[in-house]
Amino acid sequence: MATTPNKFDIRRNDTVKIISGRDKGKQGRVLRVIPGKGRVLVEHVSMTKKHVRPNPQRNIKGGIAEQETPVAISNVMLVCAQCGPTRIGHQLQGDKNVRVCKKCGATLEK
Ligand SMILES: [Zn+2]
Repeated sequence: MATTPNKFDIRRNDTVKIISGRDKGKQGRVLRVIPGKGRVLVEHVSMTKKHVRPNPQRNIKGGIAEQETPVAISNVMLVCAQCGPTRIGHQLQGDKNVRVCKKCGATLEK
């Protein structure tokens, strides 16, 4: 093995592209990172339908609601604004370690 990823470089509000699985090719914003499971919740990706029971007390209408399910972090790639899906590099800028695009070197921090 070459390298072992020690931590996840995907963060909330990042734009990622799905590189495998049912939603391959889709792109979306990261809603939540679940480090313990190595998964991320991506907006409009891996939608599942959930049947919701009506609950008038909480003003919930019954029916079918769509909901994201978390996808494995290994199935997503961070998207660079310039070059699209890319691998993440790191660079020290001042005293900050920032994530940069491995292709064009642009910073990936917002
Ligand atoms: Zn780039």
